[in-house]
Amino acid sequence: MIETDLLIIGAGPCGLFTVFEAGLLKLRCHLIDVLPIPGGQCAEIYPKKPIYDIPGYPSILAGDLVDNLMDQIKPFDPGFTLGERVEKVEKDEDGKFIVTTSHNTVHKAPVVAIAGGLGCFEPRKPPISNIEDFERKGIDYIVKDPEKFRDKRVVISGGGDSALDWALFLADDVASEVSLVHRRSSFRGHPDSVDKVMQMAESGKINLITDSEVVKVSGNGHLEALEIKSKKGGVIQQGLDYWLPLFGLSPALGPIADWGLNITKNSIEVDTFDYSTNVPGIYAIGDINHYPGKLKLILCGFHEATLMVQSAFKTVYPDKKLSFKYTTVMGGISGF
Ligand SMILES: Cc1cc2nc3c(=O)[nH]c(=O)nc-3n(C[C@H](O)[C@H](O)[C@H](O)COP(=O)(O)OP(=O)(O)OC[C@H]3O[C@@H](n4cnc5c(N)ncnc54)[C@H](O)[C@@H]3O)c2cc1C
Repeated sequence: MIETDLLIIGAGPCGLFTVFEAGLLKLRCHLIDVLPIPGGQCAEIYPKKPIYDIPGYPSILAGDLVDNLMDQIKPFDPGFTLGERVEKVEKDEDGKFIVTTSHNTVHKAPVVAIAGGLGCFEPRKPPISNIEDFERKGIDYIVKDPEKFRDKRVVISGGGDSALDWALFLADDVASEVSLVHRRSSFRGHPDSVDKVMQMAESGKINLITDSEVVKVSGNGHLEALEIKSKKGGVIQQGLDYWLPLFGLSPALGPIADWGLNITKNSIEVDTFDYSTNVPGIYAIGDINHYPGKLKLILCGFHEATLMVQSAFKTVYPDKKLSFKYTTVMGGISGF
């Protein structure tokens, strides 16, 4: 069981900045995210896009903002549970929250901050009726650890950056065989990655199958073969160890909807005094919350996190007095 003061569900920019503000008050934090990397939408959807409305930065790439936030919270040494979705939030007999993930990792904390953004990013799955029979038994929608594919026969489907990048990475002396299947002849990904894939296809390191899609999966307990249908009419039977359909991720509120919180328009209703929800001890900040005048901006989430931790402190330490101090007055983070 992982115990902490403030458990943060969602490691997007708002969840990450919460660690800093909580750290100033000496609250220990642990973050959980279903994605394998921190950064939420900034890391997953638009890491290379510049953002222009972060105070003090005329322009910053979303991915660089995440890196900076990770540097800023380093002194507070937060814990991370990544690649796991929070399924259940319950209260135990001493009034603390027990938070359980999809991988049965159990966390305990007196305060929970939901910074779940647009919800969980769910993989876009190809419409194959028995696909779920082979999930985690040969079919993965996210690459968490590329070493899993060492010396294996891998088929990747997709035409975006994720499919291209992983095809290039795994074909470079990791997997024993890499095939890239795409339903069109042109790719959506970065032109540089497309060029590299073409070069690797020419040199025989990637088996490129375009204008085609996987229509059937089969195996005995573990995935063993795919049926790949070409638009031109042909059908290929492909033996393999792993299939990675990398068609992107789409957001869905997911299990958050089942935790007894007041929900309006797929968002959690909060009191703007401290961003508390209708469940005492649970707060909601960032894109996931709703109140009159709400704007889904990183800047607004940072402000919400700052006010929220003041109230969280009083729940964790009901007998301690909290006095507000500027970080400059404290002489840097080491002073905390
Ligand atoms: C293309 C694009 C451009 C944008 N440009 C700007 C801009 O210029 N300026 C600006 O301010 N904002 C911009 N935004 C919006 C900004 O990205 C969001 O406001 C911000 O990401 C919200 O941060 P967050 O931490 O609240 O949520 P998110 O970034 O969405 O992170 C939430 C995290 O919670 C996780 N999660 C959810 N449910 C669970 C669960 N049950 N278990 C585990 N993990 C869970 C998700 O996996 C996700 O990683 C843009 C958004 C997009 C899509």
